[in-house]
Amino acid sequence: MLRTLILCIVLITALSPKGFTQSYWQQEVNYTIDVSLNDIEHTLDGFVRMKYTNHSPDTLSFIWIHCWPNAYKTDRTAFSDQLLENGRTDFYFSEKERKGYINRLDFRVDGTAARVEDHPRYIDIEKILLPSPLPPGGSILITTPFHEKLPFPFSRGGYTAGAYQMTQWYPKPAVYDKKGWHEMPYLDQGEFYGEFGNYDVHITLPATFVVGATGVLQTAAELEAYKHTGHAPSATATTKTLDYHAENVHDFAWFADKRFHVAYDTLQLPSGKIIDVFSYYTPKAKPDWQHSLHYIKDAIRFRSALIGDYPFPAVSIAAVRIGSGAGMEYPGIAAVSAQLTGRELDHTIEHEIGHNWFYAALATNERRYPWMDEGMNTYYDQRYLAIKYPPGAKKLHANNDWLQKKIPQDPDTVFLNTLIKEKKDQPISTSSEDFASYNYDLIPYDKAAAWMRLLRDSLGKNTFDTAMRSYYEQWSFKHPYPQDFRAIMEGSAHRDLDTLFHLLDKKGSLYPAVHRPLKPSFLFSANQTDKYDYINLSPAVGNNKYDGGMIGLLIHNYNLPPDHFQFFAAPLYATNSHQWNGIGRVSYGWYPDKKFQKIEIALSGEKFSSLSATDSNANNIFGGFYKITPSVRLTLLPSSPRSTLQQWIEWKTFLIGERGPAGYVIKSTDSLNYPNGIGKYAFRYLNQLSYHIEDKRILYPYRATLQLQQADRFYRINFTGNYFFNYSAGGGMEVRLFAAKFGYLGGRSNSLDLTSYEPKLTGVSGSEDYTYSNYFYGRNEFNGFASQQIMDRDGGLKIRVPIFPWLEGRSDNWVSSLDLTTTLPSSIVPSWLPLKAFWDIGTYAGGWQNNALTSRFLYVGGLQLSLFHNMLNFYAPLFYSSDFSSQLKTVPDQNTFWKKLSFSIDIQNFDLRKFVGNIPL
Ligand SMILES: [Zn+2]
Repeated sequence: MLRTLILCIVLITALSPKGFTQSYWQQEVNYTIDVSLNDIEHTLDGFVRMKYTNHSPDTLSFIWIHCWPNAYKTDRTAFSDQLLENGRTDFYFSEKERKGYINRLDFRVDGTAARVEDHPRYIDIEKILLPSPLPPGGSILITTPFHEKLPFPFSRGGYTAGAYQMTQWYPKPAVYDKKGWHEMPYLDQGEFYGEFGNYDVHITLPATFVVGATGVLQTAAELEAYKHTGHAPSATATTKTLDYHAENVHDFAWFADKRFHVAYDTLQLPSGKIIDVFSYYTPKAKPDWQHSLHYIKDAIRFRSALIGDYPFPAVSIAAVRIGSGAGMEYPGIAAVSAQLTGRELDHTIEHEIGHNWFYAALATNERRYPWMDEGMNTYYDQRYLAIKYPPGAKKLHANNDWLQKKIPQDPDTVFLNTLIKEKKDQPISTSSEDFASYNYDLIPYDKAAAWMRLLRDSLGKNTFDTAMRSYYEQWSFKHPYPQDFRAIMEGSAHRDLDTLFHLLDKKGSLYPAVHRPLKPSFLFSANQTDKYDYINLSPAVGNNKYDGGMIGLLIHNYNLPPDHFQFFAAPLYATNSHQWNGIGRVSYGWYPDKKFQKIEIALSGEKFSSLSATDSNANNIFGGFYKITPSVRLTLLPSSPRSTLQQWIEWKTFLIGERGPAGYVIKSTDSLNYPNGIGKYAFRYLNQLSYHIEDKRILYPYRATLQLQQADRFYRINFTGNYFFNYSAGGGMEVRLFAAKFGYLGGRSNSLDLTSYEPKLTGVSGSEDYTYSNYFYGRNEFNGFASQQIMDRDGGLKIRVPIFPWLEGRSDNWVSSLDLTTTLPSSIVPSWLPLKAFWDIGTYAGGWQNNALTSRFLYVGGLQLSLFHNMLNFYAPLFYSSDFSSQLKTVPDQNTFWKKLSFSIDIQNFDLRKFVGNIPL
């Protein structure tokens, strides 16, 4: 009876919020590490002693240990996989010398050799099986020697060009808390969770190095020299050992460079406590970094006054070449990219310094809840910047006022709103590694900061600031969970904040949609897109051989974030044909967020000339086309936000009118003959159903389209697949597979010529672009350079044999081809020259008939010059089937290099991201 009663009391106490704090516990790991740096081999040798105290109520039989330098050991680690997924191949393809590892580990527990088990998935995690169980309250001493080869700084740590960034460098237990073990592999996207403890670190290295580290330097001569001369003390010995002591930290980082200059000052905190402030930078960085001490002190004053005193006796910033991002925080020290200057440097230093509150002291599980450190930290960055750099005080692009007005003060918000509008965003509470890389840069930072503003506005600024001070006070040097933060906020607000905290788990905007009035803009505007719906106007130009130069007006509403209803129209007056042409499109798209990412219905149209001639009265006359294309496209929802796989299904109907030259006066002496009549549009249609699948992964990306076309009296089925093999030295080989089946509907008709619809092996010319889908300068040219333009369709054999039509591999049955295009080694072609080699081989039904006019297989090989990100390509055939060569030989004027050359204008290869980087469009 009594026992039950006691249990009840314990339960009641544990369930009350106060009880949570009282029952809170955390493990403790105190380290002594001896380490020496070999700056010739770029290795570390060391010995680590960890006193592990079990404050948990559980008996432990094993301990997970992070051996994170092994993340750099092979190209099959979680780190390597994630970099690939995020679009980086530099580590994957790096040479062995640039990789790294940790080995020679020999774990002992209280002197007894411990059995070690590998983690089933991650080579950078080990499990130490304790020789005897560790009871609650018990302590053990875990020791191990270690040898480490430093990687190139692909991520946060490593060695390059005389600079050593020693981060995540020693074996370290994973956190064990109320939710259990938190073993995790090292990742680039996703931060850390460590146990608190004290560190004594003894670093032996060549005497000429200057070192910045977590904690307080205990080596008096070295410390004095840093403070008063800014350099390492002159020494007689070749090496030195520097002793550091740090209390109540959950990680230890150090940065060594012979070129470091040390800037030093002291700073008094609001409580009266005085701390040491150091900045380490190379002479090259001095012009901007000489201000770094000011930036550090401003940041510390600001946060100390608002949240509570800076938590450590010293603070440092080291200028480094950092593998990813602008800066990286460690307790008491942060690495900041040496390249940063001016306001950006100030901002980055302030942000990294800020992590001493939101990471070093409030040690949340950053991997699982990145918003708790990055979001809260970013919120305070914004408050800091609003005071230090009030809006309008300083311009981002000071030299260009015009552009300044177009570009938002805060482009991240525009990108974030775009992702939200397209429903590609993810909840704030998402775990780091589950975020799509574009979301990771925006949601745990900017959206979480916006949520913090919402929280502040809900509580009122004073209550919020007081609540944040209590959060810092109660949870410093602990591991708070979101519920702990919420309990403090609700306690201060004296009310339930369920609605607000629920927003953390939801996608979408934090704010209700507002009506945005239309506003005209010249060219484009990305500024204040939350307030205005821009209609953008600009001059437009166009050009083709028949219409000549065209000038007109482009009007569109392609804004970020995109509207559901989008349009563009470009009426163009042609200076040669003296007529109005143009192109336009209207669409309505929505994002169901279930099954389909996007559904879009659209109507597009265009009208241009595609013929010109001179009539018997020497007047220029023109023929042309119009095209109206209704379409529906269903883009499937990817399996996860990190997926690079896209699929869509599309229905299009092409409604096309074509006419011969208008205004033509027929004379009996004329040889020209236009069967469709003169000046009258002949109408035709074509239905097209397409399925497209594409994986935009950085390694071996592929895409494939299956297309079914139907029009008057025929059908066509087309398959085009592209697969890219990356080379380790950069570049790669594109493999294209094409197959088409053609057939008659309702029987073959002699009165209807379907030749131009039939698939063929050689390059497709303008007159064969039966859906008017490609831009052709001279669509119906049979002579001159314009006639040498081809499009990326059908067999793709890049050789010109228009005067030998039977050599083109055309078929009213089937056609198939394989096209290979490869980049060339930099030893042969300098990397600035975009020259590639191609080899095309194909076969077609006609080649397999008795009395075939050609061999069964036809091939062409040659060189390809690809300009403007593959939007303009020139193809020079150099070797090809004897079928081609034997015929070409008979007409020497067609057999020249220039006559055989073809080119394509592939506007579909235009990808804005290639020009402006990875912005989320
Ligand atoms: Zn940060």
